[in-house]
Amino acid sequence: MGVKSPTGSAGAASGTGATGSAGAASATGVFAELWEQTGGKIVLDGPMGTELELRGYDVNDALWSAKYLSEDPSAIKRIHRDYIEAGADIVTCASYQGSVPGFMDAGYSQGEAERLIALSALLAQEARDEWWAAGGSATGRHLPLVAGDVGPYGAYLADGSEYTGDYELTEAEYRDFHLRRMKVLAEAGVDLYAVETMPRLDEALACAHMLEELGADYWLSFTYRNDHQISNGTELADVVAAVRDLPHLQALGVNCTPPEYVETIARGIRALCDVPVCAYPNSGETYDGHAKCWHEAPAGEGFGDYLPRWADAGVALIGGCCRTRPADIERIAHLLRG
Ligand SMILES: [Zn+2]
Repeated sequence: MGVKSPTGSAGAASGTGATGSAGAASATGVFAELWEQTGGKIVLDGPMGTELELRGYDVNDALWSAKYLSEDPSAIKRIHRDYIEAGADIVTCASYQGSVPGFMDAGYSQGEAERLIALSALLAQEARDEWWAAGGSATGRHLPLVAGDVGPYGAYLADGSEYTGDYELTEAEYRDFHLRRMKVLAEAGVDLYAVETMPRLDEALACAHMLEELGADYWLSFTYRNDHQISNGTELADVVAAVRDLPHLQALGVNCTPPEYVETIARGIRALCDVPVCAYPNSGETYDGHAKCWHEAPAGEGFGDYLPRWADAGVALIGGCCRTRPADIERIAHLLRG
């Protein structure tokens, strides 16, 4: 209650012509439609990198999961399909690490980089459309949406700085880095954008300004260092004040952050604005950098134990980030849809 409904503004693909997908919904205002049909309880997907790794793919690369856009696109499509079958209302395409400069540093031409970014959207759309044709349309669910993934400059640095925000670019430099990927994704017909894993407010704002210019819907999601400051130390209250009135902002929240911080962050955002809250934290397992392995979360402190508390705190869009899996998305769908 008290959360505003979406603005119903034009979707990212509006005016870009046919997308080639069999999507039943028009790209205009599709997020508002999804919101209405789900009653503002929206299931997001889980991570691509974790799932590739657990299926035997080596993601230890500067391009991370985006490497498989070129090497094994069918694996990426299969994972999108698994998340949709698990219940995801929105799947996020594999462009997080796939920026134009990132691909070019890895030896691709600009044209190839753009083709791979467009392919990331296409694979998610195909997975969605094939599921829909194979019986998804009879489930009573809304046609899942495809979000274009906009990872931070820190992800391109591939040194963990998406968790520190230890870099600083001018607005023009952020534009140079982000805009081309956004435009390619718009041309590919994404329904909205996930501007995610953001450690810095200035970068998120620069991305928001570009997407406002494109007339595209998007959410902004930050990494947090604790339950009240994003990764570079900016206070949650300052983030909310800076973004709350952005016209195409559909949700504001937190991802790739330990689950124990999420409830307080969500309540903090809700106390300060009526923008819907999104949360897709990590599983609760912790990474041991020396042993290069993950340790299980202590009993009673895993992802599933926190889920009901996030719903109670009014989180409208719930999904998973690192080390969560399709089974976690299934739990979320069960919780939100009853
Ligand atoms: Zn993550």
